[in-house]
Amino acid sequence: MERIYNGVEWLMIKLDPMWRAIGYERLDRPVAAVEKAVKGLLFDCQMCGQCVLSSTGMSCPMNCPKTLRNGPCGGVRSNGNCEVKPDMRCVWVEAARGSRKMREGEQKIQVVQLPVDRSREGKSSWLREARKKIAQQSSGGSDGNS
Ligand code: SF4
Repeated sequence: MERIYNGVEWLMIKLDPMWRAIGYERLDRPVAAVEKAVKGLLFDCQMCGQCVLSSTGMSCPMNCPKTLRNGPCGGVRSNGNCEVKPDMRCVWVEAARGSRKMREGEQKIQVVQLPVDRSREGKSSWLREARKKIAQQSSGGSDGNS
């Protein structure tokens, strides 16, 4: 999953000249539709528009009934399931497990995530990340997040 995710990110960055020519704003709706279909299938993505999968062991925190983006609440059951939905595995138990399998997962899961910006709901994270990474590359910087 990490490789697929990184591959998509790489492709989005490579295609930047084309995205610029068409216009990022104009592309948002069609790309978001593809993103929703693909990530919905693979990660049960809720299209928050500010993806943190690479920092959460590829477990989508927006599936937490409390939408916690910085670790679990105090209610994780002894079997690792959610206190709100007893039949559901806690997304943060899955995040911890997933992050151990990822290249920089254990460092990235420590990064504190900002509160969700609801104005981005339904928009493409792929395009947002591509633009962010390109801006970082041109300024010679990087962040530990994505
Ligand atoms: S963090 Fe947001 S964009 Fe990423 S999979 Fe979850 S809902 Fe989708």
